[in-house]
Amino acid sequence: MNDSTYDLIIIGGGPAGIAGGVYAARKRLSTILLAEEIGGQSAVSEGIENWIGTIKIAGIDFAKALRAHLAAYQQDVVTICEHERVTTLTHTDNVFTATTASGASYRARAVFIAAGAARRKLDVPGAKKFENKGVTYCASCDGPLFSDMDVVVVGGGNAGFETAAQLLAYTKSVTLIHRHKEFKADPVTVEQLLKHPHMHTMVSTEPVEVKGDVFVTGLTVRNKETGETSELPVSGVFVEAGLLPNTDFAKELLALDPTKRIVTNPKNQRTSVEGVWAAGDCTDELYHQNNIAAGDAVKAIEDLYHWLATHKTT
Ligand SMILES: Cc1cc2nc3c(=O)[nH]c(=O)nc-3n(C[C@H](O)[C@H](O)[C@H](O)COP(=O)(O)OP(=O)(O)OC[C@H]3O[C@@H](n4cnc5c(N)ncnc54)[C@H](O)[C@@H]3O)c2cc1C
Repeated sequence: MNDSTYDLIIIGGGPAGIAGGVYAARKRLSTILLAEEIGGQSAVSEGIENWIGTIKIAGIDFAKALRAHLAAYQQDVVTICEHERVTTLTHTDNVFTATTASGASYRARAVFIAAGAARRKLDVPGAKKFENKGVTYCASCDGPLFSDMDVVVVGGGNAGFETAAQLLAYTKSVTLIHRHKEFKADPVTVEQLLKHPHMHTMVSTEPVEVKGDVFVTGLTVRNKETGETSELPVSGVFVEAGLLPNTDFAKELLALDPTKRIVTNPKNQRTSVEGVWAAGDCTDELYHQNNIAAGDAVKAIEDLYHWLATHKTT
């Protein structure tokens, strides 16, 4: 056990965690930042083109820039512990304790959770081989690369339809496949999109194999009712099969929604427990983007700074 009681524990080193770290440093909140890895999900991206103020940056450089930004301001105020995975978070006598997989534990008066999420991967032959070669998990990031091409979207929830809507702006056609008979997305959204002449859907249909040579050339699909398979000649496969939020360590302490995301107040990023804030992809925020994660983190730190100032320890 580390004997110090910090003002703040930050869990996560993606855009939300690092934004939190920079703001905590500037407000001189004694902080410990615990992260498995610095950089976040888009560190693997070929190129990020929508990080505001930066025209284009490779994911790996994005991760380096986040690290450098925090290093420039951390001074003796923010301590960074990388390769630390938080496994439990508890609350006793107005102090929060985060315990990590290495057996260490850290105490603080407030907690900011920015543990993000993992994308549910497409689990069929070819999906891994062609990842970033036609198989993609982020339409706003990679969509423009598929200008005038035929693409498929896997997933019939709101995320699938939103992705299809974005892609229709520049692709030749979008075929959305959904494994069930009824779409999960809001009926109004479905109705609007189905009117688009380049939008096609296939229900009760599941992906079977991603085909390609250097890049994707097609997706084999199976109709679950008839058992019939067919190949869609597409250049892009956009997967929207859901997010898996990294919230296991918080499930005993905080209110989570049915998909295990942390329920937050969008005005100030407070969670169901006083003294704990959360932002980014681990929360019930609707949209998953670097700028949103960083912005919501700033909101959280502004709010928790005032909270800490008015909840002095006796
Ligand atoms: C391939 C890909 C490309 C993308 N490209 C773009 C893009 O171009 N533009 C864009 O705006 N968005 C993009 N996104 C989405 C964007 O990456 C996410 O919205 C964003 O990373 C969310 O930030 P976050 O800080 O909330 O979480 P994450 O980025 O998921 O970061 C989570 C952090 O928490 C750490 N962590 C997780 N669990 C624990 C734990 N138990 N203990 C300690 N640490 C933990 C992780 O190591 C990581 O540091 C992309 C996503 C993917 C998958």
